[in-house]
Amino acid sequence: PQKSVISVASLLKEVVLLTESEALMKGCEISIKEVAPQMSIAVDVKQIKQVLLNMIKNAMEAIEEVGNEHSGQIEVKAELEEKYVNISIRDNGKGMDKAMLAKLFSPFFTTKEKGTGLGLSVSYRIIKNHRGTIFADSIKGVGTIFVISLPLAT
Ligand code: ADP
Ligand code: MG
Repeated sequence: PQKSVISVASLLKEVVLLTESEALMKGCEISIKEVAPQMSIAVDVKQIKQVLLNMIKNAMEAIEEVGNEHSGQIEVKAELEEKYVNISIRDNGKGMDKAMLAKLFSPFFTTKEKGTGLGLSVSYRIIKNHRGTIFADSIKGVGTIFVISLPLAT
């Protein structure tokens, strides 16, 4: 893994830019809500982008499943917590019950006809390898939040 120091703000901007047009086509709005200034992380940028893109794709699919008249929102934030940055991706998609939440990071767990069930298990491993944590919470019928915590570059 090739690590480089990157600003969290620019990373999030790039990832949101990459997903914006697809989101709009699916009838959801994706926005960066707030990013604490001047935070940098030392990461394998390709891998971390892959994780964030996975999360946003899942969020779009969860919104799509609610139906067409639903106005989907995906909110991205980055907050400072001691020596970590907490990057959160929140959606108002279909949500999950507790039983589903418990299986979320297991390899091959999917509820999608053409899903692989690998996105989140791979993401989990990538974040672990970066000495970070990944956490999910959800309310069925309301929405889901993922929080990725990564150590700040020193
Ligand atoms: P896949 O997307 O191929 O199904 P993932 O590992 O990315 O595999 O996700 C596993 C499962 O977790 C999904 O099939 C879906 O049921 C659930 N899931 C993941 N993200 C969300 C989300 N934002 N909202 C609702 N359900 C989700
Ligand atoms: Mg996925």
